[in-house]
Amino acid sequence: ILSFIEVKNLTHIFRENDEKKTEKKALDNINLKIDKGEFIAIIGVNGSGKSTLAKHFNGLLLPSEGECIVDGMKVDDSEDIWKVRQKVSMVFQNPDNQIIATVVEDDIAFGPENMGLEREEIKDRIEFALKSLHIEHLRKMPPHLLSGGQKQLTAIAGAIAMRTQCIVLDEPTAMLDPQGRNAVMKALKELHEKYNITIIIITHFMEEAVQADRIIVMNDGKIIQDGMPKDIFKQKENLKKIGLSVPLAVDIVDALQKKGLKLANVFDNENLA
Ligand code: ADP
Repeated sequence: ILSFIEVKNLTHIFRENDEKKTEKKALDNINLKIDKGEFIAIIGVNGSGKSTLAKHFNGLLLPSEGECIVDGMKVDDSEDIWKVRQKVSMVFQNPDNQIIATVVEDDIAFGPENMGLEREEIKDRIEFALKSLHIEHLRKMPPHLLSGGQKQLTAIAGAIAMRTQCIVLDEPTAMLDPQGRNAVMKALKELHEKYNITIIIITHFMEEAVQADRIIVMNDGKIIQDGMPKDIFKQKENLKKIGLSVPLAVDIVDALQKKGLKLANVFDNENLA
């Protein structure tokens, strides 16, 4: 059986249209399987290919070589790409670029309206999206009165209203304050646990990555590690080698404790300084 997302021998080359025809191999022969209901964090230094990989999951970028298959559908330039985009939604870093309507509920309605759904169905979907993210109180709010975190929750609600099965988030908390970051992470965990939505989050906050069930480490266009957080963080030296700043152990321990995990699993015999 196919996994929900299957990436096979994926290479992506950016070709500049300048005189030199500069080429940059951003992804180098990536193989990856993601199952429905997984909660995955992708980490790696700037320029390692995280965004480029994520953009293949819903056809914002297409492979130079190899392929990406989503729920059995090949992601390519066919007219059916909207079917892939209905299954996999993307949320980006800048919360200010994501809301287009003048109030929250109209923004959430935007996708379903474009699908040509019945009024009642659209209303139901807005209600469900607001409720599943606990933002019913924001429904009439204009975007400029929202915090960064609330804006990201609104963007996520838009995806939920599309009945997306998977949300890919590219550093969604990078521009948020700690409160907003917590709110977004909490919402993602709940969507994952309660509704089995597949979550793929690119983050440079290790306290966030450690909350995923699986961490993919990228470097120089390749996946160099793929495993459970406790195994990835056991090999801290590998992360340091590629220039990833390893966070204070206490931050990770704190995040893990919230998740009910034992810190001994992560930092065997390590000095928690
Ligand atoms: P990350 O998300 O890990 O920071 P990216 O996927 O954004 O990395 O970038 C991977 C590599 O591809 C980098 O070297 C980056 O400069 C290059 N790159 C990304 N987008 C483009 C683009 N539109 N045109 C040319 N090169 C790009």
